[in-house]
Amino acid sequence: MKTALLYSGGLDSTTLLHMKRDMLSLCIYIKYGSNHSRQELSCARAMCQQENIPLLVLETNCYDNSSSALCTNNIRPGCVGPNMLANIVEFRNPVLISMAFPTCIAMGIDTLFVGFHTEDHSVFLDCRKEFIDSFNNMAEVCGYSTRVVAPFLAWSKEEIKQFSIMYNIPDTATWSCYVGGDTPCGECGACLCRNKEE
Ligand SMILES: [Zn+2]
Repeated sequence: MKTALLYSGGLDSTTLLHMKRDMLSLCIYIKYGSNHSRQELSCARAMCQQENIPLLVLETNCYDNSSSALCTNNIRPGCVGPNMLANIVEFRNPVLISMAFPTCIAMGIDTLFVGFHTEDHSVFLDCRKEFIDSFNNMAEVCGYSTRVVAPFLAWSKEEIKQFSIMYNIPDTATWSCYVGGDTPCGECGACLCRNKEE
C-alpha cells in the first residue's frame, strides 16, 4: 500500500508521520495564507529532511479574501466560544484535501492520512467522520480509489501527546501557535490546547 500524509508541521500530523513512517511515500504541505505558515513550513521541512521523506509544498491564494483570524493577523486569545470560532478558515479541509488529491491519484497513492482528532470536531466541523466519509464518497463517485484516512479521529489531544513523547518528538520540532511570531504566544487557541497537555 502506498500512502501520503497531509502535513502541517504541527503536533498531530508530526505524531502521525512517525506512526506511519515506514509506509509514507510523501508528505504534502499546503500554504493557504495563514499567519503561521512560515513557522509551520520550517518545522515540516526539517522533520521531512530528518526522516528522509519527500515534502511537496503546494500553495493557493483562494484565502486572500478570508475573514478567518488565522489569515488576517487577528488572532484572539482563548480556545472556547467566539474567539475560537473566529479561527475557522472557510471550507479549509475540503480545499486542502482536494489540492493534495491530484498528486495522490497521479502517484497511485491509496491513502492520504490526515491528523484530525476528537477535540477538533466541536469547532472545526470539517474534521468530523461525516466530512471524511462524504469526501471519500465523492472520490468514489468520481471513479478514484484513493481515500482519506484519519487514524486519530477517536483520539484525544492527550493521547496524541503521549505518542509524541514515545516517539521522542521534541516540542521545538512542531509548531501550533496561530499568531506567527518567533515564539509561541501562549494565549491563542492552539497554544492553550497544546499547553494544557503539558
Ligand atoms: Zn499561540
